[in-house]
Amino acid sequence: MRYESTRGGVRGRGFSDVLLEGLAPDGGLYVPESVPHLEPATWHALAGRSWSEIATEVMLPFVEPDYERDELAALVERSYTRFTHPEVAPLRVLDSAAGEWLLELFWGPTLAFKDVALQLLGNLFERELARRSNAVTVIGATSGDTGSAAIEALRSREGIELFMLHPRGRVSEVQRRQMTTVDDANIHNLAIEGTFDDCQDLVKAMFADEAFRSRHALSAVNSINWARVMAQTVYYASAALHLGAPASPVAFSVPTGNFGNIYAGHVARQMGVPISQLILATNVNDILSRAFDSGSLLIQDVAPSTSPAMDIQISSNFERLLFELYGRDGPRLAAVMERFRLLGHVELAEDVLEAYRELFDADRLDDDGTRRVIADVYQDTGIVVDPHTAVGVGVGRSLRADGDVPLVMLACAHPAKFPETVAAALGEAPIPPDRIQGLAGLPEHFDVLPNDLNAVMAYIEEHSVRS
Ligand SMILES: *Cc1c(COP(=O)(O)O)cnc(C)c1O
Repeated sequence: MRYESTRGGVRGRGFSDVLLEGLAPDGGLYVPESVPHLEPATWHALAGRSWSEIATEVMLPFVEPDYERDELAALVERSYTRFTHPEVAPLRVLDSAAGEWLLELFWGPTLAFKDVALQLLGNLFERELARRSNAVTVIGATSGDTGSAAIEALRSREGIELFMLHPRGRVSEVQRRQMTTVDDANIHNLAIEGTFDDCQDLVKAMFADEAFRSRHALSAVNSINWARVMAQTVYYASAALHLGAPASPVAFSVPTGNFGNIYAGHVARQMGVPISQLILATNVNDILSRAFDSGSLLIQDVAPSTSPAMDIQISSNFERLLFELYGRDGPRLAAVMERFRLLGHVELAEDVLEAYRELFDADRLDDDGTRRVIADVYQDTGIVVDPHTAVGVGVGRSLRADGDVPLVMLACAHPAKFPETVAAALGEAPIPPDRIQGLAGLPEHFDVLPNDLNAVMAYIEEHSVRS
């Protein structure tokens, strides 16, 4: 398997290079030169198999020849031991008469779906750095859940220093404590006076600085890292197999921010998972659903919502889709992306918009609608869903195309991560699991920095073991 950049400047990279580099040197994102297609016979053989077996078969074509099957299988096996559900990503009935399911992705150490990919990434990084006798500085931006998942995946790992930027005051208290109560020496939390998009821009700017990038051997675990997309394709496959694939199709509804989760669904579909509908659900930060309606990608101010992990205007992974829709023409896409960043606005070409509409359905749900869904689901089923999941349930129900095809809503976080919103909807907060309860009395470790590139770079210079 070889990878290329969406901006056309790099081709022929192997999986392990792509893993460690994160962002391509030309500013683009890495994508496989072609997505592997598994034969129906292979899918048939996977029905009824365990999570680890499915994960190994689905990911193997992406990591060859750097990994052989046995080594990947062993690594997968080790990566999911901290999940407290034996199936890792279980399906739960939401409404059996309607054929609605929740795909619970929050059984990992930080109670959000980010753990599914990042627990694996931690092991992939460690193996690769040991093999190269190398060390890296991982920098990342988080709207809430990536931060803690990355910290749990990388804490006290040999050869890895992690600097995690979060927008100050714009993540929930539980999310903040999950990050800041970790006191391993290789973990650094930076609270930036700005939005998530500001944090993400700071990270991108540091990657764009050649000298800084190579001096610190910068690496990324944000959803721009291809390995995360790859790891997330697994639960689309496992859920579809549980519901009758490859013989019968499945629809998915995905609460979307950075477009990493739903893009993995798109890749799974290209691999042969029979996905009849991919529903993109946003909150009021709805650039992707507005683009779907109007054909124009137009950046607006980020509005804080009750689903903060989706408070994003610049969805990085959307570039991966656009690369395909622009005919894999890197230089052309590079020009489009540069115009978009310069003007805050770009019109999608007619054929690009048409293709986008063919592949996805999209809509938004505001905070009132979100609270209503949380209340309705609880009243009908006794299940408490988190606000992100609720956005997916609300939009999924309204856009579902075929009532005979099972509809799987991705349950992206445990409701106890967002107790204020759940309490506002239900009158009482969800019961926090042990993993959250233990955080309350612990001291927090973080530094507040302005939204200023030089200040952040100086901080990393000062606190990095390598400077
Ligand atoms: C990260 C996150 C999302 C958004 O996922 P993307 O891959 O960024 O689209 C949605 N819900 C929760 C709970 C998240 O943590």
